[in-house]
Amino acid sequence: MDFELSDEHKLFRDTMRSFVNREIKPVAREYEHAGRYPTEIVETMKGMGLFGLTIDESYGGMGADLITLAIAFEEIARGWMGVAGILGSHGLACKMIGKWGTEDQKAKYLPGLATGQRRTCIALTEPDAGSDLQSVTTRAVRDGDEYILNGTKTWITNARFADPMPVLCKTDPLLEPRHRGMSVLLVAAGTPGFTVLRDMGKLGYKGPESCEVLFEDCRVPAANLLGGVEGRGMVQVLGALEVGRINVAARAVGVAQASYDHALAYSQQRHAFGQPISGFQAVQHKLADMATEIQAARLLTWWAAWQADRSDRADTETGMAKLFASEMALKASLDAMRIHGGYGYSTEFEVERFYRDAPLMAIGEGTSDILRGVIARSLLTGFNTD
Ligand SMILES: Cc1cc2nc3c(=O)[nH]c(=O)nc-3n(C[C@H](O)[C@H](O)[C@H](O)COP(=O)(O)OP(=O)(O)OC[C@H]3O[C@@H](n4cnc5c(N)ncnc54)[C@H](O)[C@@H]3O)c2cc1C
Repeated sequence: MDFELSDEHKLFRDTMRSFVNREIKPVAREYEHAGRYPTEIVETMKGMGLFGLTIDESYGGMGADLITLAIAFEEIARGWMGVAGILGSHGLACKMIGKWGTEDQKAKYLPGLATGQRRTCIALTEPDAGSDLQSVTTRAVRDGDEYILNGTKTWITNARFADPMPVLCKTDPLLEPRHRGMSVLLVAAGTPGFTVLRDMGKLGYKGPESCEVLFEDCRVPAANLLGGVEGRGMVQVLGALEVGRINVAARAVGVAQASYDHALAYSQQRHAFGQPISGFQAVQHKLADMATEIQAARLLTWWAAWQADRSDRADTETGMAKLFASEMALKASLDAMRIHGGYGYSTEFEVERFYRDAPLMAIGEGTSDILRGVIARSLLTGFNTD
């Protein structure tokens, strides 16, 4: 048992921290309020190789382990969670293509995705199906060497930059169990019939776009069926969501850490009743709980990442990490706001952004209640908590 990060992990964390301090923190509040896309930050991230985090070195990626991934997402979210969103679904889709893609698909897409020249995302959710993914109605019908794709996806983050966009669809809607009739198609940007309809208005998580997307008689080459075999879509997607849950848990730790950092500093500057508010036990208790729970969430996230690196399946561990970290971040961001009093509600301070960004982590990649279900099912079928 060793609770130290390796020297490589520490060096990576230092590099990420100085990048975030230098390029993200100074502009986060202004860009976020303006709804401005962080183009310059994306360019720096390309240069740092961050778009290739989850891609094997043989395709030009970093081939990073998932603890490195967690460190990257925590550090970025300490500056601005929206920027983490630009890498998040890209990274999990790259992992999915790397694991399940045919040799031709990997050779075609991964080198460009690793440099960020190409970008990607994941299109699962529909207006009438989110948690219950087996109910999606987007339909792909085989026609010779092509599929004809019809349906609507919603909330698709990074949709305007994705090429290809992996789309979860039904290739055989009558098959039981339903997941056997589901597949992932890699849809190229600019394919006729593929339209990004609109950007969704959002409470937070501004910066990256989250869009509604329409497929209308969209012809996709059969060669773009992920893995080349129909019926594997749900398995492919669920594996990718494990990586997604680590990135979301780590983002939650980052937002909570930023909330704490701001709350601690403010509590030492702000005076009331003749003393810094950090002198009041009520404020101290909030800070103590935040620091304790953040560290617990961070360790749980690293443990889940370590498990996911070692085994084929870590849905329970990654679910536990995301559930705990995201609920913790909600509380930490609210407590940071309370410690700031009225200024916590002001757009001139950072903490109101943390408070607006935090809830997404308890929704995306599986809501907290869905994850409770995943964890409980696993416990009831013998998951060992020792
Ligand atoms: C900003 C943002 C970005 C997003 N980005 C993406 C993206 O890039 N790609 C993508 O595909 N999706 C994306 N999503 C969608 C997101 O993954 C879904 O919103 C999420 O999975 C929940 O689905 P839903 O919204 O349909 O809620 P629903 O599934 O309708 O759930 C509504 C409520 O019912 C509860 N519920 C549902 N089923 C159960 C059950 N069996 N047991 C207990 N409770 C249950 C849920 O916990 C929740 O509280 C994004 C969402 C947001 C807000």
